[in-house]
Amino acid sequence: MPPLKEIRGEEIELMEKSTPQEILKWACEKYRCLCVAASFGKDSIVLLHMLRSIRPDLDVIYLNTGYDFPETVEFIRKLEKEWKLKLIEFTPRISVEEQERTLGADLYHTDPSRCCGIRKVEPMARALRNYDAWITGLRRDETEHRKGIRVVEVADELVKINPLAAWTADDVWGYIRSNNVPYNPLYDKGYVSLGCRPCTLAGTWGRFERAGRWAGTTKVGGECGIHITSTMAEYGEASAETAPKRAPEK
Ligand code: SF4
Repeated sequence: MPPLKEIRGEEIELMEKSTPQEILKWACEKYRCLCVAASFGKDSIVLLHMLRSIRPDLDVIYLNTGYDFPETVEFIRKLEKEWKLKLIEFTPRISVEEQERTLGADLYHTDPSRCCGIRKVEPMARALRNYDAWITGLRRDETEHRKGIRVVEVADELVKINPLAAWTADDVWGYIRSNNVPYNPLYDKGYVSLGCRPCTLAGTWGRFERAGRWAGTTKVGGECGIHITSTMAEYGEASAETAPKRAPEK
């Protein structure tokens, strides 16, 4: 039976009024094929910290684009070891070197949507083929695009759970500080929203915290595409025939 039919309307409404911890518990009890997508920014760190006492062995999907900040990669490796995370890493089908040789050295500036499609959307679509539901760190106050998100959403029979939907950046930092949660050192260098190194500026650039992402391109302050259903469907179809069904577990 598709997951959509397994969720009652009352459950969805109840989750809108629940705490992130209650939402995570509900999701972990309800879905066996469940994962959490982690960029290892402040929001995913909060979720991973909460999951340590709820479901520490949950699959953690990390998209290694090849363009991450060295600080981010080092932070991930450290946390993976210290928290014994079940990290499952997905990489693009082509290396950074191959992309730069065939599509240009700065595709992230000339056509960032294509770069994100290759390095983020296709790997995520491939990863999610193995799951009924996924957990994300999306919040409504991050961008204009995200202000209408619900805690529980369903698209193409895949359930997306956003436990932090109602939280603000202050809520996230309040949780990190009061629970002494480790965080990416780039925040202390002035970054407010973290993405790939070529597409992320430090500082506050606009009303929303993602305004420093893809600055100077048509995609400024926007979305990589993994949270846009039509983009995920497009790349999911493209990868469906060749993608392995199971995630390559470490
Ligand atoms: S964030 Fe930038 S570098 Fe990373 S995949 Fe997207 S366009 Fe490419």
